[in-house]
Amino acid sequence: MENFYQRTPTETLEYFHSDQTKGLSKQGAKEALDTYGENTIQQQESTSPWKLLWHNLNNLIVYLLLAAALLSFAMGETIEGIAVLIAVVIAVMTGFVTELRAQKSIDSLQEMIYTTAKVIRDGQVMEVESAAIVPGDILVLAEGDAIAADARLLESRNLACIESALTGESEAVEKNAEEQYDEDVPLGDRRNVVFAGTAVTRGNGYAVVTATGMKTEVGKISDMLTGNKSAKTPLDIELDKLGKAIIIAALFAAVTVLIAGLLTDQPLVEMLHISIILAVAAIPEAMPAVSTITLSRGMRIMAEHKALVKTLSAVETLGATSIIASDKTGTLTENQMTIAEIILSNGEQYTVTGKGYEPTGSFHKEGQEISVNEEPALQAMIENGALCTSASLKETDGQFEVLGDPTDGAFVVLGKKEGIDRQTLMDQGIEKIAELPFDSENKFMITVYEKEQRTLIMKGAPDVLIEKAAVDRSVKEQLNDINHTLASNGQRVIAVAQISNYQGGLSESELTESLDNIEIQGFVGIIDPPRTDVKEAVKIAQEAGIRVKMITGDHPQTASMIAQEIGLIDFDKTMTGKEIDALAGKEEFNERIKEVAVFARVSPENKLQLVKALREEGEIVSMTGDGVNDAPALNGADIGIAMGIRGTEVAKESSDMILTDDRFGTIVDAIKEGRIIFDNIKKYVSFLFSCNMVEIVTIFLSVIFLLPMPIQPLHILFLNLVIDIAPAMALAFEPAEEDLMKRQPRSKEDSLVNKRFLGRIILSGIVIGLTAFGFFSFLIQTNHELAYAQTATFTFMAIAQLMHIFNVRKQSGFGLDKSFFKNKALIGALILSIGLQLSAVYLPFMNELLGTSPLQAGTWGIIFLAASLSTLVVMGLKKAFQLK
Ligand code: ADP
Ligand code: MG
Repeated sequence: MENFYQRTPTETLEYFHSDQTKGLSKQGAKEALDTYGENTIQQQESTSPWKLLWHNLNNLIVYLLLAAALLSFAMGETIEGIAVLIAVVIAVMTGFVTELRAQKSIDSLQEMIYTTAKVIRDGQVMEVESAAIVPGDILVLAEGDAIAADARLLESRNLACIESALTGESEAVEKNAEEQYDEDVPLGDRRNVVFAGTAVTRGNGYAVVTATGMKTEVGKISDMLTGNKSAKTPLDIELDKLGKAIIIAALFAAVTVLIAGLLTDQPLVEMLHISIILAVAAIPEAMPAVSTITLSRGMRIMAEHKALVKTLSAVETLGATSIIASDKTGTLTENQMTIAEIILSNGEQYTVTGKGYEPTGSFHKEGQEISVNEEPALQAMIENGALCTSASLKETDGQFEVLGDPTDGAFVVLGKKEGIDRQTLMDQGIEKIAELPFDSENKFMITVYEKEQRTLIMKGAPDVLIEKAAVDRSVKEQLNDINHTLASNGQRVIAVAQISNYQGGLSESELTESLDNIEIQGFVGIIDPPRTDVKEAVKIAQEAGIRVKMITGDHPQTASMIAQEIGLIDFDKTMTGKEIDALAGKEEFNERIKEVAVFARVSPENKLQLVKALREEGEIVSMTGDGVNDAPALNGADIGIAMGIRGTEVAKESSDMILTDDRFGTIVDAIKEGRIIFDNIKKYVSFLFSCNMVEIVTIFLSVIFLLPMPIQPLHILFLNLVIDIAPAMALAFEPAEEDLMKRQPRSKEDSLVNKRFLGRIILSGIVIGLTAFGFFSFLIQTNHELAYAQTATFTFMAIAQLMHIFNVRKQSGFGLDKSFFKNKALIGALILSIGLQLSAVYLPFMNELLGTSPLQAGTWGIIFLAASLSTLVVMGLKKAFQLK
């Protein structure tokens, strides 16, 4: 490819037959898309059906089943061999089909998460999907934009980009369209071009796209970026381990039986057969696909609830969240900024009426309405406030909306209430000659205007501005008092200051660093009410043992007041960004931040420090963010949450989840959904394994007591693949248990397979298995035919396993209650399974195939009695051993 950084803007435009003001034509862009292909980096080949099929074929379970089939054929048990082969097909196909469907649904959800970019086409600025960008397109760049393709700058104003993704350099790089190079320069020093995968941290500009997709600099190194993301979720890995452990246990049992049989002189063939049965019994045939389908279903539900989760593992991790670190402004609050109070530096106090952004309202002093033009100091400050903004007010059908920064919006509206606005003032001959936009690092904004002489206007966080004021200590104290008066009401306070007859420089560094003689005019108190549903959501989260921490650039008192209003526990424990900086790295740091609920005056770097420390403490941290600077913290959190409406493209890219409605409540909803999913997977797995356990215990006991086989291999397959599957899958649809959001979050170490979980499986296996064995030996002793006794035992197992669902449904207590009737799928599954078992017992064709014989009514009576009793005993013991 060409080195476009060595070409002029005009040459580059000509090369691509593009035009700076018109851009490409829509038709031209379409043709270019055919020529150059989509602007995407193929990080991962999306899983092909063949791959999925192979993945389902190539696993231990399939191999073991195949071996069992071979052995069956070798021993002349043809029907059994065929049945095992059918089992293989069923296991592979359920796994394949469910995973394929899950994959499709994940793909379509991920398509909802695409990024856009602004380009000029046919002379108009339009927003297009990043994937549709082609060489020759004119990119329109502004602060917070993710850069979609490599491009040569045509124009730039104060432009800087953060290129760490490409160069590893964490400082922003200044960009300049005017720069020209004749020789090779390294990537990081090419100031006249911008690169895909990087982001604009400040300023704006235009650039013509020179490379897209895999041709971009980041595309070229993308091989290095891939491969570190495994498609398997932690849960998958755990389930794999569990599956293997069970198989090993079964093989061990099989070998023990084999040896025991040989030592007691039983026929080898018979013993081999039993070993096969044991192995088949232990294998969780339906297991592999479980977590994928359940998680992907959860992903869809979350998307319906306005939370776009990007990966299956994020769905899983969400459920374990122990801390939500949330931005205050806009997430916990409405981000509807209204100036309600004004205190001038001379101590004069005013209140302003009006709600939201509607530009109507009046000014009051000591309860009396006043007119602003009789209060020159007040008027001067309102004018300056209006001039030091970049937002504008838009009206549609009587509804007012701010385009741009909401805080700036508050000043625009304040002015309009008195007929003061930027445009009118500029029409009177005032000219803007410099602007330093607001950023969370500086916490102020500056504009410089000229009319006869220059005036510098500055507005920003009071503490920062008071520091720079040209007054002595005692006056600073007084100003601080005013600040605290407003902040302690929970108002967001902003100071307005000026330097009249400004003589200093206009460059960014001169404006940021060299101002220490400003004249503070006064302060405004802004109300930004908490969102209506936040209090409830905070309560739910806190009851669920999730600590909510507020993060804000506002004053600690303002933040603490709002924290109290929304019901945050420990709302009075605050810490500022300065304190974080001072304490970071010290021993007590981690301890301290665990307690603190409100972090005020924080910078984006502080957020990263917080995430790191909290994670070191073993917390699972969900952290929100919206700006470019938030990207590292979003990356670093267990769950980075970006705001769909307010967030920058960069924040969205760095996150694990995007809130399409920016609401705090949505986070809590998503966490709840994550918990339900984890719970249900646990139930599903627990159910399948306890069923297998029952089978193993029964067979093992029969061998030890030298009884015939209580149940045939085909029966086991029928139980595992026909009877159990539907109810198990239906467990994925279980509603939340009543106490779900009253439990503590599960800890990082607390995996799916813990002692309690194993305890429950073993307990139910032993109780129900013993009962089955007892029942079988009773039938044999009372001179029933072997086929009859086996059919009865087989049926008992089916019924007992189905009843055992009621134990599995609830962590504590018995699951036959109102909530059971909410899960229609489960009711249907149980009816289906009972019907299937009846057919296995009574249909002549099935009698033939499975070697069963029809049961008498009396036997059914005993079966139901024994099954109910044993499930109740399991429940009782579960309670007694506290295996909750
Ligand atoms: P947050 O987003 O948590 O409110 P910010 O970093 O946006 O935090 O704001 C920090 C402080 O900077 C605010 O408390 C306010 O005093 C000041 N501030 C915020 N927005 C503006 C703005 N547009 N212009 C001037 N000052 C601002
Ligand atoms: Mg802000």
